[in-house]
Amino acid sequence: MRQVDEALTALAHATGLACPPGCGACCANDKPRVSVNDVMPLAASLVARGLGESMLARAAADPAGICIAYAGDAVHGRCTEYALRPALCRLFGFAAVRDKHGQTALAACRVHKRTDPDAVARAQRAAAEGRVLVFSDVQRTFDGLGRPELAEPLPINEALANALERALLQADYAALEARSALAPVAPAAANDDDEDPREPEGSGPRPRLPPLAA
Ligand code: SF4
Repeated sequence: MRQVDEALTALAHATGLACPPGCGACCANDKPRVSVNDVMPLAASLVARGLGESMLARAAADPAGICIAYAGDAVHGRCTEYALRPALCRLFGFAAVRDKHGQTALAACRVHKRTDPDAVARAQRAAAEGRVLVFSDVQRTFDGLGRPELAEPLPINEALANALERALLQADYAALEARSALAPVAPAAANDDDEDPREPEGSGPRPRLPPLAA
């Protein structure tokens, strides 16, 4: 993701292309479609911060709605998870599409076109010259790092709900494994006259796992 951010920063510096402060029009109006692979880092981070269950409930309650990470109003748009936003969100307005002849063209944001048409024109020239990241190339790279069956673009909340369920499950398994490793072996019963001293070590009752915290 660092290389993507560096390329986008370079494009912004070279062309002046930039989002107006506080704008969240793409989040609020365009309802991005992203893959589960693309939102797994965000889901893992939410779970690690103890926000997994609550965000899963919100995403599952509104799978086709506005992104649950968006906390804006009509005037001030804002992504609450900006550092971990999916690749598609990073690229929106700053990346190109490729036609069947291999020609690339900027997929310009309508807000950019309205607020800074000169910067958009410069970015369009850069895209035509192949100097702008292409959505499908970036997506293919990231999906190649993830699981093929999780590469399908979905409404962002649906993708997040799926990713959060997986991340929560992984966290539960990790906790279970950790507890299993730490659980003390049950002490041998005193005065156990029936116990056969020749019985191989470890053949007795297995230590029970303490229950997971709710
Ligand atoms: S993750 Fe952030 S940038 Fe992407 S749609 Fe949600 S609020 Fe917008």
